[in-house]
Amino acid sequence: MDPVDEQLPIPPPFMWACADCTQLLRALAQVIDADAGCFYEQLAVAQHLAHEHTSALPAPHTDGCEQCPRYTIHAEGKPPAGPWAEHLARSLFLHESVARLL
Ligand SMILES: [Zn+2]
Ligand SMILES: [Zn+2]
Repeated sequence: MDPVDEQLPIPPPFMWACADCTQLLRALAQVIDADAGCFYEQLAVAQHLAHEHTSALPAPHTDGCEQCPRYTIHAEGKPPAGPWAEHLARSLFLHESVARLL
């Protein structure tokens, strides 16, 4: 199996409709393909989603996510923003096992 397919699930259609998303995903796929570290590329996609596609972000995880409960406490009832929104955004373009690492 192509290693890119293993690391990058098919993103939702709205991401393909957005030129920025498409460009950021291509950049991410390229570094994964080159077997280079993709931390910054992942971050770039997540930040773009968190800022530009706020309404498309998944709901906070309630099924054993290690990150969401901590963010929930610090958010004091406010909706996900900043690092928490970026964490949720990762579920849109990364496999769950990878997405929830950050
Ligand atoms: Zn976009
Ligand atoms: Zn979570």
